Amino acid sequence: MTSYNNLWLIGIAWRLDRLRWASTALLGACVRGNGLCMAEFPADQPDWLDQQLTDRELAAAMCEGCPVADECLELELRTGGADTVGVWGGLSADDRRELHPHWLRRGERAERGVAR
Ligand code: SF4
Repeated sequence: MTSYNNLWLIGIAWRLDRLRWASTALLGACVRGNGLCMAEFPADQPDWLDQQLTDRELAAAMCEGCPVADECLELELRTGGADTVGVWGGLSADDRRELHPHWLRRGERAERGVAR
């Protein structure tokens, strides 16, 4: 039986399909140029900094509003793969590790691998 968590991750893998033809170099440039965390850290501390958050909540808070979260996630799945660590694409490392096999099964990735 498929758990709710798996359905959630499968939905994310489907959503990332739109980026499957984007080159890794293009994704990297997009994230470096537009990622929220790539800009200067704001002078005011974010209000979540003092809160006790789960890794999933922390990732969601850190990446909230990032215009290139999907590009960041796709890039990290390609480059970090199953060994991914830290916060990328609005997901915790545990969630990305669980997402990775679902993402690999999508479309052409299963046939050609992920590096381009
Ligand atoms: S999704 Fe998160 S980690 Fe990725 S660029 Fe945006 S803010 Fe940074």
